[in-house]
Order: sequence, then structure tokens, then C-alpha cells
Amino acid sequence: MQTAECLNHLSPYLFAQIDAKKAALIEQGIDVISLGIGDPDKPTPSHIVDAMAEAIRKPENHQYPDYAGSLEYRRACATYMKRRFDVDLDPATEILALIGSKEGIAHLHTAFVNPGDYVLAPAIGYPVYSGGATLQNANTYFMPMNKENGFLADFGTVPEEVLKRAKIMFLGYPNNPTGACATAEYFDRAIAFCCEHDILLAHDNAYCDICYNGYSAPSILQRPHAKECCIEFFSLSKSYNMTGWRIGFACGNQQAIEALGTVKNNLDSGQFTAIQEAGIAALTGSQTCVEEMCLLYQRRRDLIVDALRALGVECESPKATIYVWAKVPEGETSESFATKLLEEAHVVVTPGNGYGPQGEGYIRISLTTPDDRLLEAVDRIKSLV
Ligand SMILES: *Cc1c(COP(=O)(O)O)cnc(C)c1O
Repeated sequence: MQTAECLNHLSPYLFAQIDAKKAALIEQGIDVISLGIGDPDKPTPSHIVDAMAEAIRKPENHQYPDYAGSLEYRRACATYMKRRFDVDLDPATEILALIGSKEGIAHLHTAFVNPGDYVLAPAIGYPVYSGGATLQNANTYFMPMNKENGFLADFGTVPEEVLKRAKIMFLGYPNNPTGACATAEYFDRAIAFCCEHDILLAHDNAYCDICYNGYSAPSILQRPHAKECCIEFFSLSKSYNMTGWRIGFACGNQQAIEALGTVKNNLDSGQFTAIQEAGIAALTGSQTCVEEMCLLYQRRRDLIVDALRALGVECESPKATIYVWAKVPEGETSESFATKLLEEAHVVVTPGNGYGPQGEGYIRISLTTPDDRLLEAVDRIKSLV
């Protein structure tokens, strides 16, 4: 049996070595604390769970869902976009329900990329942007992204021959893993660039609601001309502690929404309508739960940033996301420092090189660990000094 060649071109799993060491320590009975995974530790808010409990009992929800999402769910997405960003969207033509935003991001490649084409992806980023291209037998061009450019991927240096075959440019701010946030001016430049070169700009806004100290992350669709070339991905996973439910949406440019919808019509049958009803409760209900989560993560962020700085580790305190992106000390690599924290403090962090070559020299720490465990991890890290 022979699998498709593209499978051989997918990036190897870069965290395998750390995972193996972690498993060996646990095997020895050592108490390992993981600050590695970006998966909210708190349960889904109860009003959302209650909406699901009610929806699951309705027989009409037991049949095939609407492919594009129920009109009620898409209306709730529109209501959210209006309330949160003052962006007007037509639920029928400019919004598409997704089975988690990862699904939509991955399938966008099928809708727009031919074999041999290019996808432009940030040099440090969510692996699905380039993985989706690989599965389409297309190429990824990594846009430089580093501390000097504020971790705002630099599309100005993309070579002409790449631009001719570039179909999608992926950006995502607030950014996983760096925590960087984009300015309106950066978005405007990216929109002008993509409109000029006839490239679809796909903005991944999974962390827009996880903001600190009064910051409120924007939608790219707030910018002029955005609907001419942009599709934006939203996820209920991080905002409402719903990673396991698999619900999100895409919105923006009508042609892009229609093309992604066509791919999905042929591949899946939509998300369970009861889950969409829970999504409506999340998007249109009280947002107090989101505010509470942000305050919790903000406290944890401060604990982690203080501990790292006490250790002499350089890091920005992020304005958004559930991650702290920290420079490893002089003489260490991402892998060696992550290994040291694991072996000497029994704390798991993610080596930055797992997000692309320019992530080398960094580690990512996630804020989704319960308070008592996080405090214990902080103590252990501080005692390394
Ligand atoms: C978590 C995350 C998502 C959201 O994934 P879902 O499939 O909606 O759970 C998308 N993009 C990035 C960068 C993420 O970190």
C-alpha cells in the first residue's frame, strides 16, 4: 500500500523529543507540570452547556444539519461581529459555520490553491497554514517574522516569482505563539498588498477575545476595502472554553465564503445543530464569562512573567492570547532550555522552533494550567536561579 506523496512532505512533529522525555519522567513517578498546551483548563460556562442540554433533546436537531450552518447560528455570528467590532455582515452570503476554525483554515487551501502554487505564511506560526498547502501539493513561502519587526510578518520581501503563484496569505493577530498584536496600519498595508497582487488574505482571529489591561483586539474586517480580499476565521474554542465542541465560523469576502462552502459541501455535512445552538448562546449571551477568563489569564500571565524575569529570562508581557513568548538565556537553544526546565524543574514548555525556523531561541508558555499547579511551576522555575 502506498500513501500519497504529500504526506511525506508534512513537517515532522517537532515536540516528539520533549514528549518522550516527559513520558519517561512520569514513568519514574515524577510530578511533571505541563505549561505546554493551549487548551483552556476551565469548563465551558454553564449557560452554554444548558443551551446544549436543551438543544440535544429536540428531534429536529437529530437530522443532517445545514451545510453552511443554520441561519440562526450565522445570524448570531453577525450579531457578535456587529456588537464586538461594529462590522456589518450578511449572514446568508458572508458567513459560514465551521467545525472549529482549524477545519476551515485547512480546507481554504483546497478552495484556492493548485498544485505548485504558493501560500504565504508567517515564519513563526500555526502549523496548519503550511500543512494545508503541503496536503494540496503546493509550496509555502515563509514571511520573515522576528523581534525586530515586532513579530509582524514581513510580506514586503516576498520575491516576484513567488507572488505570481501566491494564492493565500495567512496572518493571525493576536498571535499564537508570540502574543504579538497588529496595528491598523499593518492591516491596511497587508490589505493593499493582497488586493494589488490578487491574493486572498486569510486572517486567523482565534484570540480576539482574550485581551488584557483594557486592550481590545480588532477584526481585519474593520479596515477599509477588507471585504475585497479578506476572509477572517473566528473560533469559540478560546473565547468560551469550547475547544472540545468544535465550533467556529468564517466571514468576509463573499466569493471566498462561497468557495470554502463548496469544498465543505463535498467533504462534510456541517456541525451538529445542537452544538450550533450552544454556539448561539455563547455568542449572543452574557459576555461576563469572557471577562472573568481574561482576568484569570491576566493574573497568571503576571505570575509567569515575574518568574521568568527573576530567572533573567527576557519576555514581553503580552496584551492578548494565552501565551508568554520568552527568549531563552544566552548559550541555550529552544530545545536545550525546554529540556533543562523539564529535567531540572519538571515543567513542560514548548520549544519555539516547533513553530518555524524563526522561533528558534524562544519558548512558549501557556496560561491554561490551574492556579495551584501554575504557582507550583513558578516556584520550581524560580528555584532554578
Ligand atoms: C486554537 C487556535 C485556533 C482555533 O482552533 P479551533 O479549530 O477553532 O479549535 C486557530 N488558530 C490558532 C492560531 C489557534 O491557536
